[in-house]
Amino acid sequence: MNAFEQIQTHITNAATTYGLSSTELAVLLEPNAVHEHMLSVDTSLGHVSLPAYRIQFNNARGPYKGGIRFHPAADRAEVSALAAAMAVKCAVVNIPLGGAKGGVALDPKQYTKADLEQIARTYATTFAHVLGVDLDIPAPDVYTDAQVMAWMLDAYEKHVGHHEPGMITGKPLALGGSAGRATATAVGGVMVLEEVLREEGRTPGNTRIAIQGFGNAGATAAMLLFDAGYMIVAVSDSQGTLYNASGLNPHHVAAIKEETGSVVHAAEAGSEVLPLDAVFGVACDVLIPAALDNAIGDQEAAAVQASLVLELANNPIIPSADALLFARDVTVIPDVLANAGGVTVSYFEWVQNRQQYYWTEAEVFDRLKPIMTNAYHAVAQEARGRSSSLRQAAYVLGVGRIVEAMRLRGNV
Ligand code: NAD
Repeated sequence: MNAFEQIQTHITNAATTYGLSSTELAVLLEPNAVHEHMLSVDTSLGHVSLPAYRIQFNNARGPYKGGIRFHPAADRAEVSALAAAMAVKCAVVNIPLGGAKGGVALDPKQYTKADLEQIARTYATTFAHVLGVDLDIPAPDVYTDAQVMAWMLDAYEKHVGHHEPGMITGKPLALGGSAGRATATAVGGVMVLEEVLREEGRTPGNTRIAIQGFGNAGATAAMLLFDAGYMIVAVSDSQGTLYNASGLNPHHVAAIKEETGSVVHAAEAGSEVLPLDAVFGVACDVLIPAALDNAIGDQEAAAVQASLVLELANNPIIPSADALLFARDVTVIPDVLANAGGVTVSYFEWVQNRQQYYWTEAEVFDRLKPIMTNAYHAVAQEARGRSSSLRQAAYVLGVGRIVEAMRLRGNV
């Protein structure tokens, strides 16, 4: 089963609640539009032709929204899966946007900064006719960042001949980005996690946390949680796991990673360097996958000692491992809820761009908190009502909102 088929299965299961006919279900399960082009770009490696995608899954609830990734594995199935998950995610947190995703199949490490600029600009002009502030609004994703968004904005605005900052989010502040956007995914995830821990009667002092992936989402979450008094017992990156039963200081780890390229060089007294996948099985209460998709298979799930998993990464657990964790009573806070802080602050960025009136970081996070915690409580209530996992409940809630909008439009 590829990534898109996995998401289609989640949507199909959720849709049974709403009594859709098979033809109606077919409308819901397929993207509204699949745009594929070969990007023809002159680079330092010579002239290259790169497969590029913009997949617009569903816009019943608002304009399409979703990031663009630069990654060798980007293909139609992966980008479609991410587009569908975006539609569900925006519906779960109840923001008025649909779901889309983009990708360019390339290894960004092979290219110079000037090459990446040309690739970004070519993407923006090639897909300009299907993007726009009221049509489809991209954002950063794996291996794209605020600078890439700035190049895309500039190329798009030159192409259409007017300013339109709300056509893309995750921009630098100087070009209309939002305060708080860079850390929003982790901040939103921590808001949900703290709500769950509060319900369980846990305090920061008695909660140990392990984090897979020490990039934007993972490192920010580690620092926020450490500052709030939680014990970070393990962090990992692509070179290995750093473990300390008495706790790590993620600020120190981040400084060493900045200097040396990996968390494994930050070992202090009491710390051990363990293999890559050891992070999943360390003694802890909360596990946060914040690296790549499909990281947790059956073997990793069997090793998990945490009672709670917060999916900051998209799609980090394969379906059979998810079932295994549910059977073992491990609570999984699903990606469509756990990492929705990123798209919610992207939505705030879009709102600010439309008003040309900007909020402080405190205002951004004050508005984020009720959205994240209300979404969690709605999902938890749905899960209790149907004795299901939080993931199944989140899909029922999100798909229900999409179906309602499609029915009102007469589209199903
Ligand atoms: P990033 O590139 O900043 O960080 C990824 C980290 O994972 C790096 O530290 C890398 O070394 C590590 N890593 C890679 N392979 C690994 C492996 N096999 N084992 C352990 N660590 C490994 O990316 P990010 O922006 O933090 O995104 C991480 C995940 O979060 C992705 O799934 C992304 O889709 C998801 N996400 C991010 C955002 C956001 O706003 N950044 C929003 C929603 C979802």
